[in-house]
Amino acid sequence: MSDANSLLRSIPAMDQLLNIPMVAEFSATMGREFVKETITAALDSLRREICDEIFTFTDKTLGELVENRITTLLHQRSSSTLKSVVNATGVIVHTNLGRAPLANKALEAVSDIARTYSTLEYSLEKGGRGERNSHIEWLICHICGAEAALAVNNNAAAVLLALSTCAAGREVIVSNGELVEIGGSFRIPEILSFSTAIMKAVGCTNSTRIADYRGAVTENTAVLLKVHTSNYRIEGFTSCTSREELAELAAACGLVFIEDLGSGLLCPLGVAFTHPEHSARNCLEAGVDIVTFSGDKLLGGPQIGVIAGSKQIIDRMRNHPLLRAMRADKMTLAAFEATLRIYLSGRRDEIPVIKMIETDEGVLLKKARQLCAKLKQTAKTGEAKDISNDISFEVVQVDDAIGGGAFPTERLSGFGVGIQSASRSAESLALAFRTAPVPIIPGIRDGRVILHVRTLLDGDEERIISSFSNILSGY
Ligand SMILES: *Cc1c(COP(=O)(O)O)cnc(C)c1O
Repeated sequence: MSDANSLLRSIPAMDQLLNIPMVAEFSATMGREFVKETITAALDSLRREICDEIFTFTDKTLGELVENRITTLLHQRSSSTLKSVVNATGVIVHTNLGRAPLANKALEAVSDIARTYSTLEYSLEKGGRGERNSHIEWLICHICGAEAALAVNNNAAAVLLALSTCAAGREVIVSNGELVEIGGSFRIPEILSFSTAIMKAVGCTNSTRIADYRGAVTENTAVLLKVHTSNYRIEGFTSCTSREELAELAAACGLVFIEDLGSGLLCPLGVAFTHPEHSARNCLEAGVDIVTFSGDKLLGGPQIGVIAGSKQIIDRMRNHPLLRAMRADKMTLAAFEATLRIYLSGRRDEIPVIKMIETDEGVLLKKARQLCAKLKQTAKTGEAKDISNDISFEVVQVDDAIGGGAFPTERLSGFGVGIQSASRSAESLALAFRTAPVPIIPGIRDGRVILHVRTLLDGDEERIISSFSNILSGY
């Protein structure tokens, strides 16, 4: 502890730290108060590490270390932390990386609508109040074959609004095989309880029959709920009840049949999957009354939740007080309308998510070879020392994934560049990529860093090369 005490005592005083040239520069641009607050925060965390004895000395002196911590935190705090990254993981709808990148037309719409006043809730004909939902309702109806549609903040909100409207205080029958948890914070039993519905789980994990549902119906039952098992698949001896059978039972008993479809596929994909996903239109055609889905998964748009189906039921949701707390923002609606219009036009390869799914292997192989050659070239000819003996690059075959709660067991065969260093572990190399000026998020496999090319967007190859040059200069 005396060691700790003497370390704590040798931390320089505030005035002295404020005079470090780099720190003084920050004071000039960001203001002295901001810099003082940041120094205090950096020193607090360093002091805690010293007291908790988790602090380890590197080859730096304490003075250097303090200066380093302070300038690092100053840099962090004076630039945005929500920043653009290159997704080289091969996971197309990556929830941690912001799910779907938007189409150019969606971006243009956002920038137009955000910059100016708009017809968000204004009718040009009436010269007065209009409907925020009207911009996207007919488009969804047209694309999904629905009578009515409503957009809210995300699919979790859509499910909650649907259940709160149709089943508050009443029973909802759902299969034990479909009590889904998505990403740790969305769990069907919890959403049900929050909507004040009473959950009646029926059947078994691997098998639920129509008789199980029928046997559970009482006069207090309001809803049959089907949930898409987005992120897992039950295999082996399994059976689940078809939508048609559930629709028939719901109609016979006067119940509402709701499906939480999750991923929001709007059109069939040009890839053969063993277990294809159903589109929202498929669900409605099979007799589902209300289908809900996300806008930023397979659909490839912004974060939004769609409720589509029966007009009579959706009209009740329009008057629910929760709707106001869940409404979508104008930028989101602008991006969503533009994305739906791309579907309407039939040019769906303008939607990055769809394009990435449908890119064929030959194209990916070509991209991987090109990236590999450029990386090798950079390693040889960069201003930094030639490290081509330490580091090797190779085009490798990889498994890519759709992600975002769709096709949980399907893998897309793709290509990437495997990078291996003789002197550095894959983890340390991956860290260097992630913390480069333009962060590159790679995969890691078999002790190698892998840059999957399927999820690279226009301009990403240049970003990778520039970040890689930067890594080399500190190699
Ligand atoms: C993703 C998903 C949700 C949650 O949707 P968000 O748009 O993230 O709120 C709900 N249910 C299912 C089945 C999902 O796949």
